[in-house]
Amino acid sequence: MQPTYIYKILYKKYGKQNWWPVDKRYHKKNDSDYRFEIIVGAILTQNTAWSNVEKAIINLKKNNMLNIETIIDANLDSLKEIIKPSGFFNQKAKRLQTISNYLKNNYNSNLDKFFNREIKLIRNELLSLNGIGPETADSILLYAGNKPVFVVDAYTKRLCERIPFKTKLTYDYIQNFFEKDLKKNFEPEELVDTYNEFHALIVKHAKDYCKKKPNCNNCLLNKKCNFYKNLF
Ligand code: SF4
Repeated sequence: MQPTYIYKILYKKYGKQNWWPVDKRYHKKNDSDYRFEIIVGAILTQNTAWSNVEKAIINLKKNNMLNIETIIDANLDSLKEIIKPSGFFNQKAKRLQTISNYLKNNYNSNLDKFFNREIKLIRNELLSLNGIGPETADSILLYAGNKPVFVVDAYTKRLCERIPFKTKLTYDYIQNFFEKDLKKNFEPEELVDTYNEFHALIVKHAKDYCKKKPNCNNCLLNKKCNFYKNLF
């Protein structure tokens, strides 16, 4: 079973997922860049559920701290306290200040300057920052930068393991496997939206059916899934 086939099945069942959840009206009203909220969210969501991230983002909004300058100027202990609901707040507070300082020092806090460059260059820079791994970097590229980069997370790896796709389960291999197939079946201008939706659909499916203990009997992929076939 190829990724495009799965994408079509999942999209038909669940429809558009409208990721990344960000309140653009808030940013319009506060004259801030909504893409920075996505960058913040991509860091805060490391090793935690999105519901915890939402609480931390609400706290940041209440304190008018969803922009590069205020994160840099924040007292580190106060920032830790504000983002506490997202867990691992000691590390994450430092990571937020690291990326904010980086964007200010190198791009004058201008996200257009940061994103209007080759994907590889931006990705390498993100990966050079402390605490930014491939999943976080690619989430930032896809959802904040609008770049055609497929995001691989633990749910994607689980699906690959169970279906299975003929892949090694390394990040780069899975990413390349998905991108190669999707590029064959979609026009270049459709890729950002397709990668955006597909990642969100995989998360949705993993939460609803393909959980740690999967609900295979009711899963619409079960006819093609080896994990399911091996149950009998
Ligand atoms: S059949 Fe089971 S293991 Fe396979 S994709 Fe569906 S829920 Fe996951």
